[in-house]
Amino acid sequence: MESVAAVSAADRDSLPARLADRAVCIGPAPAGQSYLRPEVLVAAARGTGCDAIHPGYGFLSERAAFQRLCTDAGLTFVGPDADAIEQMGDKIRAIAVARKAGVPVVPGKNPIGAVDEFLTAADQVGYPCLIKAAAGGGGRGMRVVRRAGEGAVALQSAQAEAKAAFGDGTLYMEKYIERARHVEIQILADAHGNVCHLFERDCSVQRRHQKLIEEAPSPSLSPRLRSEMAQAALALARAARYRNAGTVEFVYDVEAERFYFLEMNTRVQVEHPVTEAVTGIDIVQEQLRIAAGEPLSFGQPDVRLDGHAIECRINAEDAWKGFLPSPGTITQWDVPRAEGIRVDTHCERGYRVPPFYDSMIAKVISHGRTREEAIARMRSCLASFGVGGVATTVPFLRKAIAHPRFEQGEVTTTWVERELLSDIGAQANG
Ligand code: ADP
Ligand code: ADP
Ligand code: MG
Repeated sequence: MESVAAVSAADRDSLPARLADRAVCIGPAPAGQSYLRPEVLVAAARGTGCDAIHPGYGFLSERAAFQRLCTDAGLTFVGPDADAIEQMGDKIRAIAVARKAGVPVVPGKNPIGAVDEFLTAADQVGYPCLIKAAAGGGGRGMRVVRRAGEGAVALQSAQAEAKAAFGDGTLYMEKYIERARHVEIQILADAHGNVCHLFERDCSVQRRHQKLIEEAPSPSLSPRLRSEMAQAALALARAARYRNAGTVEFVYDVEAERFYFLEMNTRVQVEHPVTEAVTGIDIVQEQLRIAAGEPLSFGQPDVRLDGHAIECRINAEDAWKGFLPSPGTITQWDVPRAEGIRVDTHCERGYRVPPFYDSMIAKVISHGRTREEAIARMRSCLASFGVGGVATTVPFLRKAIAHPRFEQGEVTTTWVERELLSDIGAQANG
């Protein structure tokens, strides 16, 4: 399969541009003038003779209008159809689909308009509760409300943030699960009616509701809950007539030992390599097969878990300065190669980390026969991972991986901010 990389001027000489069979420049560095311009991307694809577009996991990957534009131009969009993207992109609609499919949803109310509406609902579900944005993503537009008096301010600021980030200020409310883990199920569905799950990923190591470390399988799930969660995800995918790769996210209440549907992401996710490691299934390859109209290359009984995998996201940020982004030129780039280690990156020595985009510069994935072995391999990889010229989260990740709470596999989604950062003397906010 030949590939054409669509790159902005900032990425013209980048590693992915050179690795692709061809690279085409789609505009200046700021994303609004390049990566976020659907018409330009479609024109570039047509002009270079492409028959399909893989949207990756950022930018336009969950934009229904982009899917439609591709289809109208005779290009195959490697992902679900526009209706599925639209339906799941509206979290309130997604919750309705989940409920109808018999999937447990978090007690709450949607949508939420005025303050009194919120207060009445909060009295019913109980505090603390969480205000969320219907169009949300990336952990933005969320506010925890611990008592009635905080409601008005929280609603106002959540709405302003949601409007600015997504152009849509619609809010809803859920019970806030205090001791929670984030567990998600990877789904693959083809056009021939095959819907399979690839088990779960645990993404409980988060800061500001954003994932930092992910692993598969989850250290916290019993075999019974694992199977129930997978069945719930399959039921949702079937109810939505979903096609291609998708992830059904759940919040797991550690105390009640119950899980609830959060949202569905209609694309391949950053953390998909941990699933590839423990199942041996190449998710991107399956995405391409599905998009080409071929059946999945495996059936559900073929999907087995082999060992344990962990992914660390390496960002060009300084954890000791409140995770301040650190763009600049990479002067040293020593990436260890070792058994059971995969590194996905677009970086190399001499690369300029642009200030325009997400600060993730690499993903390190370790795979071992056991969780202990995966941790040990990750630890030795991070120990010799040498980056110069920009600050990275490698020193932070070394400490996180070595922390007894992580080693014991018992962290919840607030662990980083409530415990880890102060334990290692780093700052929570910039
Ligand atoms: P986004 O679209 O921003 O990813 P999600 O609904 O997936 O929004 O939530 C992001 C994160 O916020 C979750 O991984 C979880 O840590 C936390 N979260 C969301 N809803 C709840 C809830 N009801 N209770 C506790 N934590 C929650
Ligand atoms: P890995 O680190 O597992 O070797 P790569 O970083 O090479 O994976 O590739 C990432 C994903 O991109 C893979 O899942 C693979 O399916 C896909 N991929 C890589 N090269 C090509 C290609 N030439 N054509 C189509 N897909 C590719
Ligand atoms: Mg999410």
